[in-house]
Amino acid sequence: MNKEVKLEDIVSLAKRRGFIYQGSEVYGGLSGTWDYGPLGVALKRNIMNLWWQMFVEDRDDMYGVDAAILMNQKVWQASGHVDTFTDPLVFCKKCHSRHRADKLENPNKCPVCGEEGSFTDPVQFNMMFETVVGPAGFGGFNSIELENGETYTKPQAEETNIAALIFDKNDRSYLRPETAQGIFTNYKNVVDSFYPDLPFGIAQQGKAFRNEISPRDFVFRSREFEQMEVEYFVHPEKWEEAFEQWRKDIEVFLDKLGLPRESVEEVEVPENDRAHYSKRTIDYEFAFPHGKDELLGLAYRTDFDLANIQRASGKTMEYHVKGSDETFVPHVIEPSFGVERALMAVLTSAYREDEQNGEKRIYLALPEHLAPVKYAVSPLLKNKPELVEKAREVYQMLKKKYGTVMWDDNGNIGKRYRRQDEIGTPHCVVIDFKTLENNTVTVRDRDTTEQKRVEIGSLDSEPST
Ligand code: ATP
Repeated sequence: MNKEVKLEDIVSLAKRRGFIYQGSEVYGGLSGTWDYGPLGVALKRNIMNLWWQMFVEDRDDMYGVDAAILMNQKVWQASGHVDTFTDPLVFCKKCHSRHRADKLENPNKCPVCGEEGSFTDPVQFNMMFETVVGPAGFGGFNSIELENGETYTKPQAEETNIAALIFDKNDRSYLRPETAQGIFTNYKNVVDSFYPDLPFGIAQQGKAFRNEISPRDFVFRSREFEQMEVEYFVHPEKWEEAFEQWRKDIEVFLDKLGLPRESVEEVEVPENDRAHYSKRTIDYEFAFPHGKDELLGLAYRTDFDLANIQRASGKTMEYHVKGSDETFVPHVIEPSFGVERALMAVLTSAYREDEQNGEKRIYLALPEHLAPVKYAVSPLLKNKPELVEKAREVYQMLKKKYGTVMWDDNGNIGKRYRRQDEIGTPHCVVIDFKTLENNTVTVRDRDTTEQKRVEIGSLDSEPST
């Protein structure tokens, strides 16, 4: 891996080449939000599809779900999120900036104004985005003119609390801060529909929202992001073997992402730092450009979540072992992946700079199965109709096979190669006058820059990795 990768290199490449833009950029942005451009969405999908294929489709013990983002508020009360999903917030008494106390480089010095000893005591800030479901209350006004011209006046509320006027407590909901609860709340449904043997897992991918106090480090800490989570249900006495198996499976997945082994470290979370219900947690830390930080987590959550749901809903979450009298609430192993952090790790691992013919070159050595574009096809000269026509033919043929093929006839060949290198396209195919004579094309390899002449027919038969 290129050890020198800087965050600015990744951010600037991502923007320049259409991977990731600042959210709402045209209006000055919205902090902690990011928009994926054409290549970013392709890369993100490739990562998510790889995960789904490996952890759901290729296995017999996994079930996929796609739960609603808005959930009954009782979910977040029972899970503990309403009371404890908080980060410590401090204010600087001098410049009034706000900071997450446990992430300050120097807990005594404001990073904005430089003042020392200016922080207030912390307050626990809940990170869930609260919202209202349905046409609750009266939207803050007291009377409303109806379509027939009559005025409907709201009965005077006794409370003066604005929140109480605007919405009823039962209409309150939250944008989910994790996908996990959408899995736990469907555990019973999946058991009733499929009655799987233990151990089995339920997997979900999707958006999660956290009102982070200080979003930072590009997409690493965003307010809106995607997770890929599995809740793996096991017999309470068999959690250790399942946990070990997940460590192996995670390693295989990280290899497939192209992350060098030495850039990932398993960090055992000590008991006093673990969530109170967790008996074991490993944080997988990756050497990001901003430093070593959490890429994903693997946790043994005991029966904490299902037991909470059982208590709060009054419905049994017990699993009945087929052909026996044994019943119990299963225990859970949870591997929890963040898509943005995986994508940043992939970009960091793939980013390379070298020199070609005395010029600096930037390229992304992405694993072929993750590359947003697999082949770029160019006619050597774009003003020669016979070359363009032949190149179109080759383009169509490859597009049919690989889908993600790009037509590129802008600028000279050298420029096209540079552009494709920067987006990580493994192969560039050029159609020249020799092609018209003998049906061969040049194929240039991204990493070695070597060019080979091959038959057009053999392009189509190359294995897609
Ligand atoms: P951190 O300590 O960095 O805030 P966390 O321990 O709170 O993270 P979890 O609640 O374990 O994170 O979430 C599981 C995964 O979701 C994380 O490993 C990470 O990949 C991803 N994730 C969590 N918060 C964010 C965020 N704000 N932006 C992007 N990804 C996130």
